[in-house]
Amino acid sequence: MLNCGPRLPHRRLASLWAPQAASSKSTSPHPALQAAAKDPTPAHLSLNLDDGKVFHLKSNWELTRGLLVFRLCSSPWLVRKAPTVLSISQRVLGHRLWTSVLRLTLYGQFVAGETHTEVKETLRRLQNLGIRPLLAVPIEEDVGQAKEGEDWYDKNAQSMLTCLDLSAVGAINPMMQLKVTALMAAALCKTITLRLQEQETKSDLSIKRVVAAMKGEELNFSCLTQEENHHFKKSLRRLNSVAQYAVGKGVRVLVDAEYTYINPALTLVTVAMMAVWNTQKPWIWNTYQAYLKDTLERLKQDVALTERLGVCFGMKLVRGAYLEKERKLAKEKGYPDPVQPSWEATNENYQCCLDFGLDQVSRARGRFEMIVATHNEASVMHTVQRMAEMGIDKGAGPVSFGQLLGMCDQISLALGQAGYAIYKSIPFGSVEEVIPYLIRRAHENQSVLLGIRKERDLLQMELRKRVLRRP
Ligand SMILES: Cc1cc2nc3c(=O)[nH]c(=O)nc-3n(C[C@H](O)[C@H](O)[C@H](O)COP(=O)(O)OP(=O)(O)OC[C@H]3O[C@@H](n4cnc5c(N)ncnc54)[C@H](O)[C@@H]3O)c2cc1C
Repeated sequence: MLNCGPRLPHRRLASLWAPQAASSKSTSPHPALQAAAKDPTPAHLSLNLDDGKVFHLKSNWELTRGLLVFRLCSSPWLVRKAPTVLSISQRVLGHRLWTSVLRLTLYGQFVAGETHTEVKETLRRLQNLGIRPLLAVPIEEDVGQAKEGEDWYDKNAQSMLTCLDLSAVGAINPMMQLKVTALMAAALCKTITLRLQEQETKSDLSIKRVVAAMKGEELNFSCLTQEENHHFKKSLRRLNSVAQYAVGKGVRVLVDAEYTYINPALTLVTVAMMAVWNTQKPWIWNTYQAYLKDTLERLKQDVALTERLGVCFGMKLVRGAYLEKERKLAKEKGYPDPVQPSWEATNENYQCCLDFGLDQVSRARGRFEMIVATHNEASVMHTVQRMAEMGIDKGAGPVSFGQLLGMCDQISLALGQAGYAIYKSIPFGSVEEVIPYLIRRAHENQSVLLGIRKERDLLQMELRKRVLRRP
């Protein structure tokens, strides 16, 4: 997926973080980071997400691009019509010009780059600002989009190994996001989810048997067809080889949560990876979506299961990205809506899961780690405050924070400058590979994109200050 060949003329623009102060090749932390280390004020009290002062770290071009992109993204019509607008503009502008325009705007804002050099340069700049990498290979499939043969999945596994190589370069506790459906057919995930709900077939897919198959033992799952067995075993080995490589490189693997009709299968294979690889440290993490009504219960069950297995646990806590589709499916198929009735209810559930996680961190030091993956300021501030009250070390990383590259930088930069373990989820790849992924994300995160007014206002304020040369 990565192209190491000659670059288009926009190399500089693909680097998302070209802050004035960090534009030198220096690898030492930004001076503001060093100052934060000396500041005697407790970090949770000095963390200010409202004044936008951290935007002085951005270049004029970054401020302008951010403003332009956020203005475009806050039009619901444009987000809805994005595929059509993109395909018409490609025809009108021609491929070369179209790619260049995207690199200057959308791609430039949200993607790390295409070549190894570009990606490494973005990571270096982020690290300089106290931000750690959470690289994401933008590949996945949904039911009905199955690819032919094992080759596609094998190629994706190879891309993930490359991603692990890139993640490991010089970063503190690097992480990578993994989508199971890039390595195992979504249709099979759906079948396994159905089998897990049937009493008679549940034991056939026990964690013990899945772990054995993952380790290469020749066994048959009687609830699956011969073809499904073949693909399942191959997929388990692919997942295992990615996990093994990650542990060897010292990179944590955060497995994404997807749709409710496949999530139980994703959790099954993730817990199997935990059973194999989390014996000393939490290398493999699972994701929990607080917008689902049963999340806290499932989280507690999974924690209890890993305790019985005697392995460590890692959790990525998100609100959930597939709200509209989940609701639509429930309505169409006539089952109860699995999603919380309102944003407020999701927030309440998020906080319950968050507090449960923080309790686990302080109870099982070193054996439970979590990432608060959100752009929600209230959740960030709550975590920061609870960490201080509970004496959880902010930089050591049992509790970290995550945001998407190019979004809510006022939060990420403030956390990074205050010395918290903050990660940016970073997709990378060519324009053609990444744009469909970004459009999907834009649809799923419409509510977030519509709510980025604060970031827009802060960007505008900083730009105005520079134009008027105010301090
Ligand atoms: C690092 C990182 C990794 C991620 N990984 C995943 C992943 O593996 N799987 C996944 O599904 N998502 C993932 N996401 C996306 C995430 O689930 C959210 O969609 C996104 O972060 C927006 O939520 P928020 O907490 O940031 O923002 P907020 O604006 O506080 O919350 C918006 C979210 O609230 C929920 N919500 C909004 N309206 C309603 C309503 N009416 N009723 C109920 N709930 C509502 C939705 O979940 C919506 O996305 C990830 C996000 C990040 C930053």
